[in-house]
Amino acid sequence: MAGARGSAAFRRGGKGSEAVVAKSATVPARAVVARAVLVRSALAGAALAFARALRARSALAGAALVVAVVPASAGAQGTGGARPEATPAPAPRSAPAPAPRSAPALPPVRSKARLARLACVSGCAEGGAVRPGALLRVRGRGLRRTAEVGFSGAPGEADDVASAPARRRRTFVDVRVPLGAATGPVTVLDRDGVASAPAPVPLSVEPAIPATAAGRPSIDVDVQAPKAYFDALRPMRVSYVVHDDRPVDVRVELVRQADEAVIASWAPGVVQPETPQVVQWNGVAGGRVQRAGRYAFRVTAADEGGALRATSAQAGPPVPSAERDPSEFVFLRHQFPVRGPHGYGEYAARFGGGRGHQGQDVFAACGTPMVAARGGLVKFKQYHSRAGYYLVIDGEQTGVDYSYMHLASAALVSKGERVRTGQLIGYVGDTGNTSGCHLHFEMWKRPGWYSGGSAFDPLPELLAWDRQS
Ligand SMILES: [Zn+2]
Repeated sequence: MAGARGSAAFRRGGKGSEAVVAKSATVPARAVVARAVLVRSALAGAALAFARALRARSALAGAALVVAVVPASAGAQGTGGARPEATPAPAPRSAPAPAPRSAPALPPVRSKARLARLACVSGCAEGGAVRPGALLRVRGRGLRRTAEVGFSGAPGEADDVASAPARRRRTFVDVRVPLGAATGPVTVLDRDGVASAPAPVPLSVEPAIPATAAGRPSIDVDVQAPKAYFDALRPMRVSYVVHDDRPVDVRVELVRQADEAVIASWAPGVVQPETPQVVQWNGVAGGRVQRAGRYAFRVTAADEGGALRATSAQAGPPVPSAERDPSEFVFLRHQFPVRGPHGYGEYAARFGGGRGHQGQDVFAACGTPMVAARGGLVKFKQYHSRAGYYLVIDGEQTGVDYSYMHLASAALVSKGERVRTGQLIGYVGDTGNTSGCHLHFEMWKRPGWYSGGSAFDPLPELLAWDRQS
């Protein structure tokens, strides 16, 4: 199903959700844990001397021994979860393989949302089925923080679509069924990017009823999801249908909303009325990945002589007032890597906070899903006594290496593997020399991570991604 923001998350909530539900017998109060870590990190200054002693010992003894001899609370106060020492370079090939800690069995972070029932409100078909454009009410609990409703369709990402709800309440959300929706499971994604388990009964979607050709020609346009990420599994795609009494010549334009510039266009040629069409964009125009922001697809139809018959800029069918423009989406170049409640900690967690801290710590409950902030090629996947299970990804078209440390267990992707933005790469953990569950995140300029490049402060980027995704 989804590839972007929804991608990994919706996949978990969709196809993989049975496993998620089965494993989550014990779920920690995530927000409480995250807060507790933050409070502990505030105490870091008071215990600096102790922390130095601790680090000296850990350098000699290795992570496993430290974990064994140091009480968890003392460790947490000592380092605030941060690792102020320099990040270790990847172990030379000749070095003996480190003995990895056996990975703890972690409860996955589970959505607070529980879906109970799907009910069609308007634009319905027979027997509880919906048609594209219908208003669907998703009933359940914990739904106020819903960011997207995902329609998974058949297995696989290709037909996945998502839509932002028009109305959010604790016990229900209303959402318009997008054009591209197909019969299949329905899930919701919260603002932290955590997907719910699917509704108990899949949604049945029937084709739209062709509009009568009596009215003026018109065009319905629906983007695949309200947010789209560069290099994600879920492509940036738009579906459209022309309502007319004849075939028309179609042109599709991608408009940057900030300045209304047309940055890409497509000429699909003559299309049949009432037949859904699809156009896909890869995030690149003029050879460059486009900047983050709001974009919209605009579709126009002309007759044989070139005279305009309809444009999607015209008012389409009435949509719930709170709903966004269905032709518009937010394009992002990165996705925030921690998909769950999180915090940034105090000084020691910052770049340069404490000698040689080469990255930024993001605190979250152990077991919180971690996704690739940017797709690319896996450069390193290893275990190190200080970094724990870690992963370095050479970002696609960025010249930047992205590194992720202290994963709960070995990363879910392999060295040399091509990873997509938003792809699940592992879970937040506390492996290596750390005393609180967190992601230690680094960004390095080319030529890259411990190969001649230099680390820079990733916090401004993280904060921006956090706000947007
Ligand atoms: Zn760190």
